[in-house]
Amino acid sequence: MITADKLPVGTMSGTPQVMLAHHLKQLKLPTVLREYDKVARECARDGVDHPRYLLRLIELELIDRERRTVERRIRAARFPAVKNFDTFDFTAIPALNKMLVLELARCEYILRRENIIALGNSGTGKTHVALALGLAACQRGCSVLFTTAAALVNQLMEARDERRLLKLQRDVQAVKLLIIDELGYVPLSPTGAELLFETFSQRYERGSTIVTSNLPFEDWTSVLGSERLTGALLDRLTHHVSILTMNGHSYRLKQSASRQPATAGAEQDLAPQEIVDPDTGEIITD
Ligand code: ADP
Ligand code: MG
Repeated sequence: MITADKLPVGTMSGTPQVMLAHHLKQLKLPTVLREYDKVARECARDGVDHPRYLLRLIELELIDRERRTVERRIRAARFPAVKNFDTFDFTAIPALNKMLVLELARCEYILRRENIIALGNSGTGKTHVALALGLAACQRGCSVLFTTAAALVNQLMEARDERRLLKLQRDVQAVKLLIIDELGYVPLSPTGAELLFETFSQRYERGSTIVTSNLPFEDWTSVLGSERLTGALLDRLTHHVSILTMNGHSYRLKQSASRQPATAGAEQDLAPQEIVDPDTGEIITD
């Protein structure tokens, strides 16, 4: 049976509006469909000719399509929150090279398949910077995947047990920018460390990776368990790398301290107060 779907263009019965709606849906031009009538009235009012009318409509579709693609990339990246550099206060972390970060936000390192490592104590904005770099990459047309070291290793181990490791490795490899947050909070099992090493090894010179860690390089062995593996991993990761030094006061602690009621005058002369870092349980004297 011949259905309306299979009829050649122009042979369908019905009003032009109905046919147009059908064809535009089939061609996947939702913005043209939504806007053509309104833009037609505007163009008639302003005496705009047909080619310019068509141009306006097509430009609207292109702008919308780009916006939808960026939104799709952001969803696919699985960011725990969407953060950007507009809300990042560089003066709060003088150790961080602002010029370097803004240069990295242009994403040229991704074209060169280079890496970024952000190192520093807890609460200094490492995740914020990684998220903002991830968002910038999505906006510039790169696929991104955000994960933590612990979550990635768990997923890799699960996939291995279920005999779908290759598929997951291929998916992780396919993204232009992989962000591995929080390397260092949880020590890894020997298998976990091996699988994480494989991830770096497979991405070496093929795709960019951002790693954030609260540990200086010399302590990475305590997470990966083996000096040999740590050496080989760092060798690959740091071959083409920008290092962001982010040691400083915890932004979280500063914010929660500023929300506390002001201390009475007499108490201010007492010894520095002990503050417990909510992430690590570490006692910090501010
Ligand atoms: P880290 O990953 O280094 O532990 P986060 O990036 O999670 O730190 O920062 C903790 C919180 O403080 C987040 O909500 C983050 O957005 C905010 N934050 C940290 N540093 C800054 C900064 N310099 N400017 C604005 N917000 C910041
Ligand atoms: Mg963090």
